[in-house]
Amino acid sequence: MSRVQIRKIESYDLPQLEAAVSDFLGQANRQRIKRSKRVLLKPNLLGAFPPERAVTTHPALLEALVRHFLELGKEVWIGDSPGGTANVEQVWKVCGLSELAERYPVKLVNLSTSGFRELSWEGIPVKISEVFWQCGIVINIAKYKTHGLVGFTGALKNLYGLVPGLVKSDYHGRYPNSLDFSHLLLALYGLTRNRLSYSFIDGILGMDGIGPSGGRARDFGLLLGARCVSALDFAAARMMGFRLDDIPYLGEALQMDGVLPSRVRVPTSFRDFKLPDVDIRAVRFSNRFLRRIPRAAHHLVERYYSKRPVISDRCLKCGICVQSCPVQAISAPGKFSLPRIDPKKCIKCMCCHEMCPHGAVDIHKTWLTRIIER
Ligand code: SF4
Ligand code: SF4
Repeated sequence: MSRVQIRKIESYDLPQLEAAVSDFLGQANRQRIKRSKRVLLKPNLLGAFPPERAVTTHPALLEALVRHFLELGKEVWIGDSPGGTANVEQVWKVCGLSELAERYPVKLVNLSTSGFRELSWEGIPVKISEVFWQCGIVINIAKYKTHGLVGFTGALKNLYGLVPGLVKSDYHGRYPNSLDFSHLLLALYGLTRNRLSYSFIDGILGMDGIGPSGGRARDFGLLLGARCVSALDFAAARMMGFRLDDIPYLGEALQMDGVLPSRVRVPTSFRDFKLPDVDIRAVRFSNRFLRRIPRAAHHLVERYYSKRPVISDRCLKCGICVQSCPVQAISAPGKFSLPRIDPKKCIKCMCCHEMCPHGAVDIHKTWLTRIIER
């Protein structure tokens, strides 16, 4: 039986968060926490998005965790590798971490520049930040969001930030579609899961629509946590309205952990709970539909059932999308012109949509896609 803890918390009120964090961590690997001196808090710091955009882990939740571990006498590091070529100092500042590090004796670490180890899982090589291996306690703190490529982003997808800097973009180029990318995520999970002490999902403010950055911020009012990442993601995704096969990596992750979906235990009051009015249509159907199509026919289907990024006139010509594209499909913006996407080069990984800080990359759907997702 895999236990998932869930608590209704309406706002980022520090005393409430501290009480929940302390309660949830009672389920963590206590021996490891006792033995180890250094803790890595691994939030979602996708880019320089302020907390109210619901893209990144809220700093108040991190503050509650910082206080908890400092009280236990631990050395606290907070680290992630943001997407693309994001300026990490700017990300820390906008996400509220610089201010946190001024008030508490914690170290902010840039996982993009701290070295890595390359390990292999079932023939798939993965580069993982050296910092991850230097910390005896690892607390994974994800954000509760939808995801344009793999449907849902919770605790397992949050581990992708352990891959340093532009290696992430390179992997997007090598594993462009949702199924291939899921194999990479599973390899990463296989290599890291035994060192994770506990995982949280910050769903007090979450996101629906086409996440992980351009969707709609929603007051879900939930904090979730578990030792088992796959059980946690399964419970969280189900409350959003996803079915197991909507998320291409989830079934295999549960198998890897030896967890039967029917054995995932949530508090009684959440047993049949579904969040109201969550918009997951666009991200859900694509995965379920494409998984039923033979691989050889994918290119044909994608002509009629697909989405592609389009740069809108909301663009502020910052050029971040150009640097984020793993296959150099976007030309730099001119003084008077918007960046342009070369449809022949574009692999539809949606990194540009994910990384645009101004929500200026729209997703254009073909007529068939619009009908299916209605
Ligand atoms: S689309 Fe977004 S990321 Fe790209 S240049 Fe415009 S504002 Fe910047
Ligand atoms: S243009 Fe956007 S969706 Fe296309 S490959 Fe580049 S980053 Fe990915």
